[in-house]
Amino acid sequence: MTDEELLHAETFRDRVSNVTEKGHRKWIYALQPKGKWTNYRKYLAYFYLLTFFAMPFVKVNDLPFMMINILEGKFILFSKIFWPQDFFIFAIAMITFIVFIVLFTVVFGRLFCGWVCPQTIFMEFIFRPIEWMVEGSPSQQKKINEGPWNAVKILKKTFKHFLFLLFSFAIAHTFLAYILGIDEVVTIIKEPLEDHVGLMFGLIIFTLLFYAVYAYVRDIVCTTICPYGRLQSVMFDKDTMQISYDYNRGEPRGKFKKGAERKEGDCISCLKCVQVCPTGIDIRDGIQMECIGCTACIDACNDVMESLKFEKGLIRYASENEITTGKKFHFNTRMKAYTVLLGILLITMVAMIATRKTVDTFISRVKGQLYQEMPGEQISNLFEAKIINKTREEIPVTLQLENIKGTVKLIGNQNIILKKESIGEFTFFLEISANDIKARSTPIKIGVYRNGEKIQTIKTKFLGPFL
Ligand code: SF4
Ligand code: SF4
Repeated sequence: MTDEELLHAETFRDRVSNVTEKGHRKWIYALQPKGKWTNYRKYLAYFYLLTFFAMPFVKVNDLPFMMINILEGKFILFSKIFWPQDFFIFAIAMITFIVFIVLFTVVFGRLFCGWVCPQTIFMEFIFRPIEWMVEGSPSQQKKINEGPWNAVKILKKTFKHFLFLLFSFAIAHTFLAYILGIDEVVTIIKEPLEDHVGLMFGLIIFTLLFYAVYAYVRDIVCTTICPYGRLQSVMFDKDTMQISYDYNRGEPRGKFKKGAERKEGDCISCLKCVQVCPTGIDIRDGIQMECIGCTACIDACNDVMESLKFEKGLIRYASENEITTGKKFHFNTRMKAYTVLLGILLITMVAMIATRKTVDTFISRVKGQLYQEMPGEQISNLFEAKIINKTREEIPVTLQLENIKGTVKLIGNQNIILKKESIGEFTFFLEISANDIKARSTPIKIGVYRNGEKIQTIKTKFLGPFL
């Protein structure tokens, strides 16, 4: 090791990779990676971006395939409408998602960050390529940044930031389409600006936010802001698969001298793995919080190994145990426990979605009301019903007493007609013969019928006189 490398080996954990010794921002000029893993990520990223931008336009049965309207509490997944009353499905879905992420992190480290996270996908497959296209290679970018403000610099910077703003604008609009639906977004765009000042203001804020993230904040999101990045260290263990440098094979590192007998390890200290790293770390220092698992260093090192006719894989996907002992990947008890939990949650979620009602009824006695004695020895109770129609069609509904003879008398309405995607609220009297009421509180069942077919049975209580 050179003196500089020795010093680095002692001090690299003193601060995050994108901060200088004096605490200033260290701008990362990452080389463009090329190779097998980068290609795999590229294919996945293009598929991901296509899905992200196209999804709001996809409709099934005139319903968006996916819409997450947090403003109105209305969610559409796989063209099925979910309401706040379906909260349990969402709670289970969220828990499943978190367990999935935890399991993935325990087994595969930061695979999510490198392959799926929108921050990485947008940064590495939209904004950084724009930068390479407009400003050239990292060394050219550095030269422009450090050079004077001449016509070329002004032109390049203006064009780059214009493209950055354009894509940030597109991303902000796409997110809005996921919230309001594409039809609403198109209407907003077509209508006069003054009719949607609030939304336009929100859009501008979000566009500027995305722009700031991709033009300036960049790697700081992964190394400092993202809570998931901070949490990883508690999820990793020695069996976690991650991007690792094989120090047994690589050390002691030393420059390659053509023709000379090599006494050192396979690492030739070319620093290609560092130059491609988007967070600016040296993977040879071991597992670091800043590593987002982007595979760029694997490709860079494999390229070097190939050109020297060394075996590839000096940097590769491997667990700490695999590197130290040479043993193959081991699915440990913690991983098995998470997998079982994940399986149970997935089954529960699928069962809940499959058995989810399209019409949901809540019936209760009107608070503060007792019973009324009616002519003809009838006892009457006042009830209120809230019926949610989660479908896209109008539904006629009737209510009927199931376990006892009696009459349902709707107040103000002759029929219950539920409008599409709406919550109907109704009040009705239930009249039962006094002879059939044998207790202060009688359990009753009310059937909810749609076109003569029972869709739900509601259990409640009917109040009678003290006996
Ligand atoms: S160390 Fe390698 S995998 Fe980790 S962020 Fe840097 S280039 Fe990507
Ligand atoms: S790219 Fe490979 S050979 Fe070059 S410094 Fe990194 S680990 Fe060593």
